Amino acid sequence: MRDFSIKGLNISGSNLIKIIASVCLVAGLNTNPASAATMSKNNSETVEKEDKILFTGKSQLRQNELVLKGAKALPSVGSGNFVWPAQGGYISSERGPRWGRQHKGIDIAQPDGFDILAADHGVVKAAGADGTFGNRVVIDHGNGYETIYAHLKSMNVKVGDKVPQGTKIGVMGTTGRSTGIHLHFEISKNGATKDPLNYVKQ
Ligand SMILES: [Zn+2]
Repeated sequence: MRDFSIKGLNISGSNLIKIIASVCLVAGLNTNPASAATMSKNNSETVEKEDKILFTGKSQLRQNELVLKGAKALPSVGSGNFVWPAQGGYISSERGPRWGRQHKGIDIAQPDGFDILAADHGVVKAAGADGTFGNRVVIDHGNGYETIYAHLKSMNVKVGDKVPQGTKIGVMGTTGRSTGIHLHFEISKNGATKDPLNYVKQ
């Protein structure tokens, strides 16, 4: 049985059988490693079958390749889709007037864990102490959007870091003007704050 090469990955015959079997499972074809092995007997008819199966599984192989490349490239421009920036929790305060002034973001409290996550791909624009915000991180998403994460206990990033969506950027805390452990989270577009609840869901 011949070896097969996918973009610099040299796959031996026995590994190829395993890959064919798993690709077929992904593609919904009812097969198993034993039947894939049967097909790998070295004659022209079975080689043809093998090629067809590989073709069926091609999109799946491509996807895996993209995931690997993406991990190396560290995307720094936002997708425009935002993820919940905390580990669970509930909205203890919405955006709107509060205490005679405008509350520009939402507050998230009582999470399941204390990691604070980048809501979308971006580059860290600021990370440090900032008055009433306490320790806060600002991410520039490169597409007009910026997000702010305030009152952090500690920060895991510095200015200039590329942060793919979901990157841990800090730990929830109660630094600055804050009455308890929570995250203050803001989204702005072209300098104007938006209601984060129009962008993120728990
Ligand atoms: Zn707040």
